[in-house]
Amino acid sequence: MIVTIHRGTHEIGGSCIEVRHADTRIVLDIGMPLLAVNGERFDMRQYQSLSGPELVAAGVLPNIAGFYKWDQDSKSVDALLISHAHLDHYGFAQYVREDITCYLGEGTRELMALSAIYSNQGWHPNKLSVIRSATPVTVGSMQITPFLVDHSAFDAYAFLIEAEGKTLLYTGDFRDHGRKTYSIGRMLKSVPQGVDALLIEGTMLERNEQPKTERQIEDELYQLCRATSQLVLVAVSGQNIDRLVSIYRAAKRSKRMLVIDPYIANVLESLAAKAKLPHPSPSFDDVKVYFPSSITRKLKRVGKEEQFIKYGKYKMTPQQLSGRQSEVVMLIRPSVLDYLQKINGIDGAKVVWSQWGGYLTESYNKKLLEFIHEHNLDLVTIHTSGHASVETLKNVVKTLMPKRVIPIHTNTPELFRDVLDDIDVSEGVDGVDFLL
Ligand SMILES: [Zn+2]
Repeated sequence: MIVTIHRGTHEIGGSCIEVRHADTRIVLDIGMPLLAVNGERFDMRQYQSLSGPELVAAGVLPNIAGFYKWDQDSKSVDALLISHAHLDHYGFAQYVREDITCYLGEGTRELMALSAIYSNQGWHPNKLSVIRSATPVTVGSMQITPFLVDHSAFDAYAFLIEAEGKTLLYTGDFRDHGRKTYSIGRMLKSVPQGVDALLIEGTMLERNEQPKTERQIEDELYQLCRATSQLVLVAVSGQNIDRLVSIYRAAKRSKRMLVIDPYIANVLESLAAKAKLPHPSPSFDDVKVYFPSSITRKLKRVGKEEQFIKYGKYKMTPQQLSGRQSEVVMLIRPSVLDYLQKINGIDGAKVVWSQWGGYLTESYNKKLLEFIHEHNLDLVTIHTSGHASVETLKNVVKTLMPKRVIPIHTNTPELFRDVLDDIDVSEGVDGVDFLL
């Protein structure tokens, strides 16, 4: 078995791995980088004038023969596997040949379809195959077993790949302090000890701090809601389902309703068949919807009005919100500031920043910070990472006892050597093969 990390040996984001055995080739993740080579935030708009082959030549897309739409002459890659619905793991999937089967979780498929509507990231693969945890699939000479893992993306998977007695486990992104902690134990019980290679994420290696659990996040939110009679606004990723559940539970415990925009309502409703999630419905009469014009205009523009009209009976108006501020937790984003302006008496409200702190300094949040300042809002951060602590990484390695550890999705692969004794840590180079 030959493994090539095309991107991710020394960076967080843009993950892409190719695995070959005999005539079979598969690709694990085809992510968009988070940072450009100059260290600034990666922006695809800078490359809009380039053709597909030019994107490969410029190193924006990994160089993989028979993988992209414009490369029909080479022998096709046999499968693409997407670990989860974060752009740094699937953001370049739109360039992939449509005759390549894409394996992914059902929740991942739903989240990617919604992102396509809201962010114009049109990706509609022709050949999809939905995976289930612990249920193997065969691709050519390889057997691939997905395992559900705990991560800030819903429905995230690790992949065990077996071919002719060789075994590789790719963890994808994972943690064990979210709401699916049981999943890591289950995976560790199922994966054979002594795998030939463990391709493991190391996002948190450089931080080495014990992250809070989602339960602690829920408690902190609850304490904050209880301690104020003001409106509580939470800035959160609409796809961080564990966090949305923590916020809902904290709101419920403090006898507040959860008020969400149509996008988050769509996300929760589309996943509700897979998990018992709060969403606007008769079963959750404490979940309401507000209608910011930035979102309704967008949906009208793409002919998807039904995506917000269906929530009409759960509507909260700015007037209603103005009069019920002590009873509300409202999820916000920078594009809803026009709407927030219409809520009377919002001054002094609480704002909870519930995502990675680095995003707050991005230019798209400048207006939000100005709004917070103008209205004298009280900004606090309540957040925990989507990635495994160093303790968890060590535990996974000690349990699996792999023949070698290959770090990925980390800025500091060399730090694995400091935390692992007696284990071969193979620090890779992007595009260079490992022979297992
Ligand atoms: Zn992720």
